[in-house]
Amino acid sequence: MSDDSHEHQSFETRAIHAGNTADPLTGAVVPPIYQVSTYKQDGVGGLRGGYEYSRSGNPTRTALEENLAALEGGRRGLAFASGLAAEDCLLRTLLSPGDHVVIPNDAYGGTFRLFAKVVSRWGVEWSVADTSDPASVRAAITPKTKVIWVETPSNPLLGITDIAVVADIARTAGAKLVVDNTFASPYLQQPLALGADVVVHSLTKYMGGHSDVVGGALVAADAALGEELAYHQNAMGAVAGPFDSWLVLRGIKTLAVRMDRHAENAGKIAEMLVRHPKVHTVLYPGLPEHPGHEIAAKQMRNFGGMISFRVTGGEEEAVAICDRTKIFTLGESLGGVESLIEHPGRMTHASVAGSALEVPGDLVRLSVGIENADDLLADLAQALG
Ligand SMILES: *Cc1c(COP(=O)(O)O)cnc(C)c1O
Repeated sequence: MSDDSHEHQSFETRAIHAGNTADPLTGAVVPPIYQVSTYKQDGVGGLRGGYEYSRSGNPTRTALEENLAALEGGRRGLAFASGLAAEDCLLRTLLSPGDHVVIPNDAYGGTFRLFAKVVSRWGVEWSVADTSDPASVRAAITPKTKVIWVETPSNPLLGITDIAVVADIARTAGAKLVVDNTFASPYLQQPLALGADVVVHSLTKYMGGHSDVVGGALVAADAALGEELAYHQNAMGAVAGPFDSWLVLRGIKTLAVRMDRHAENAGKIAEMLVRHPKVHTVLYPGLPEHPGHEIAAKQMRNFGGMISFRVTGGEEEAVAICDRTKIFTLGESLGGVESLIEHPGRMTHASVAGSALEVPGDLVRLSVGIENADDLLADLAQALG
């Protein structure tokens, strides 16, 4: 449950203090890692602080969950073993056989796989929409639509969806709006304030921020839905462990300063790529020519650290560039302090090949880290040749 006393604090202060109350036993200023499965009861049913078993609740996880709720401005935060575990819990809470979901034509490959290969086997129907176009979302809705799923900025094409506009469409349709806020983080974008019902995170990315933990989260705007999700979290069991929760809490304390630097570095790199003769398209919402630039400027604090670009030399050249960088590490994932480079078509988005979500072969994706910008620019310049 979000702590009311943090409501009027600024984001940076909440990131450090919400959920991070001093340990009642020792005064430790950082919540300890409660590496424990069960709790001594004072007589049958006499729980201390409500804890009985660590799947149902663990104090380190509670600290993270309170922090997440405070950062997204929601009533309830829940932490999971991975982003996909969070998504699975959300979908099995909201959907029954016969229901319909609208999914974006540009989404994390694993999210698409969850819909197409797992959830669909349980009789849930789905249609693909270009969520950056409200008319496309309206056209995809059926009388059975229960969920509209949005990822903005999207992975890997950096598409921008107007959250407030799609929230109106969802409300009219009687559907829940889910926003995957992984690329922006709550520092840059607050989907619940714009009308979304639930925010999804891969905590693995910017929230953890150091490429050392896998985790996921749900934050619900509404207490009743939050309660239902918490029930399913416990019933299904894919919870975040105490050490993983602690790592994410630690990462979140520097989220604001990290995101500022990620965005500053990404802005410089996007400008360099735009002018580069071997690059024909740069996908970065901070560029005025990006089709979602104005909406991004309206709903985001700044434009984040993710850039994709397409090269004139085609797929082979895109793959070769990924092999030539020295500071940008070739690898999947994103959002860590270290810069990463990847080829979405053959790596993170191989699972959408042949579908409506297929990505271009000449596409390269960068997760711009917080190293020195000049070093990053020089590394990319030598890799592009
Ligand atoms: C990584 C990612 C996920 C999945 O999260 P995991 O922690 O890898 O399970 C979901 N959405 C987006 C946008 C992601 O980048």
